[in-house]
Amino acid sequence: IRVTFTPIHRRQIGIIGTIAVLQDVTEQEKLEASRREFVANVSHELRTPLTTIKSYTEALEDGAMNDPDLGPRFASVIQNQTERMIRLVTDLLHLSRLDSKEALLRKQPTSVMEMLEEVADRFSFQMQERGIKPTIFIGNRVETAWVDRDQIDQVLDNLISNAMKYTSEGGNIAIEARAADDGGIAISVQDDGIGIPKRDLDRIFERFYRVDKARSRDMGGTGLGLSIAREIVKAHGGTIALQSDHGKGTKVTFTLPQQKQGGEGL
Ligand code: ADP
Repeated sequence: IRVTFTPIHRRQIGIIGTIAVLQDVTEQEKLEASRREFVANVSHELRTPLTTIKSYTEALEDGAMNDPDLGPRFASVIQNQTERMIRLVTDLLHLSRLDSKEALLRKQPTSVMEMLEEVADRFSFQMQERGIKPTIFIGNRVETAWVDRDQIDQVLDNLISNAMKYTSEGGNIAIEARAADDGGIAISVQDDGIGIPKRDLDRIFERFYRVDKARSRDMGGTGLGLSIAREIVKAHGGTIALQSDHGKGTKVTFTLPQQKQGGEGL
């Protein structure tokens, strides 16, 4: 709480009183602090690949370019770091569009089964390579969701790519859709990977929050996947939650409105 005192003067009499203003600045300050933290995070995340690019370019200029072994290796480091920056900037732009509500949702009736089968297909090559077996389950009464397909595909991609990143070879990933209590649809992605320690669970949807920064970066993560997923689900009027047992696995569940039969849907 910020308190300001303003004396009240009367000519010839002097000070006749004081006005005290009590202002609740906690919310404002919290917002300001999180904005500052976000800018610092973005700068840091961009600076890391830029510094690497700079030093590898210098090394190439200093002669590595003519080394048949080092030349291509350094060039590929530069390429990887550039791709990382592109991913980061793409994610940031996506978030900023979601924040400014600029991203109008183009909702359409969408078959849940088709949507889940297609996301599993998109990852089938990577999953096969890592010996990960996906299972898909569609519950009774789950048919059509009323969603912006591109955006929900992004949510599913983020969740499944996390499940893959943080699950060791030969693991299992279960993708399920069930009728939720409120008449909507609950979609979940569950893995039996490394899980998340309890102390980190509260902050896991925050922008740039990661349990293990180095590991996330090595896996090509930007630290924005879950926050983007949350914004998209919120824009659809749904909720998203994460349950995890450290060492045992993680399950992320989000809800979506279901198109009412014969009706307009929400
Ligand atoms: P990242 O790009 O780092 O994966 P996310 O926002 O998608 O960023 O996730 C934030 C952090 O949450 C990750 O860095 C990781 O520590 C943790 N996390 C997310 N999904 C899982 C999962 N399925 N299993 C274990 N940890 C996870």
